[in-house]
Amino acid sequence: MNMVLMGLPGAGKGTQAERIVAAFSVPHISTGDMFRQAVKEGTPLGLEAKSYMDQGQLVPDRVTIGIVRDRLGKDDCAEGFLLDGFPRTVPQAEALDELLKEMGRRLDHVIYIRVGEEELIKRLTGRRICRDCGATYHVVFAPPRQEGVCDRCGGELYQRDDDREETVAKRLQVNLEQTNHLLKYYESTGILRPIDGEQPIEQVTASIMTTIRGSNA
Ligand code: ADP
Ligand code: AMP
Repeated sequence: MNMVLMGLPGAGKGTQAERIVAAFSVPHISTGDMFRQAVKEGTPLGLEAKSYMDQGQLVPDRVTIGIVRDRLGKDDCAEGFLLDGFPRTVPQAEALDELLKEMGRRLDHVIYIRVGEEELIKRLTGRRICRDCGATYHVVFAPPRQEGVCDRCGGELYQRDDDREETVAKRLQVNLEQTNHLLKYYESTGILRPIDGEQPIEQVTASIMTTIRGSNA
């Protein structure tokens, strides 16, 4: 099960990834999470990534492809993986194909969660994350039982720096163009699985599961 989860920022990739990896027992590899972790640890990678992330720009392909290459080489990816937020550009998609070819593998599914821009802005600006366990909430669509507190671990909820209204518009603009190119890249491959992401969370999960199971590549 070598899978990619695609979608504009706020489409629900992280939310759905958690459910998909639980069902298929493969690691969840989010380049955004990896960059945020590096920023938190203050590593050279984190310092480089932060300047791009703060402006809503993409981290350069050279850097991003490098971290994915290292991660896919780890033992826990032997039976499959779910990439979340990578590839985001055509050169990244080409590098991934090349890397998998070297490993004698190929992608089985590219799941594209489709959501309109107006809804994405609402989702991004209302998103809250747990500082301790990383669980994702939404102030209106998926609120915690107690405001500001994680249901799962009691941790404090915070708003990502790049989810502030000023950065959100820039991120969408940057990602829209790249996503259209990527969709064209995957359209001809027969592994692109578009999903209506404007349904409630549970229904999006059900659609993804049905699609993956029904089109067993
Ligand atoms: P991504 O990883 O694609 O950026 P997230 O999974 O973090 O997106 O979701 C963005 C925000 O939208 C979060 O606050 C999440 O709780 C909320 N959300 C996710 N899926 C849905 C949905 N189907 N309906 C309403 N809100 C959703
Ligand atoms: P995300 O958590 O997926 O919304 O990503 C947060 C930020 O990390 C993005 O706005 C980019 O700056 C950076 N990032 C994540 N994934 C990639 C990628 N595949 N290519 C370039 N930059 C990325």
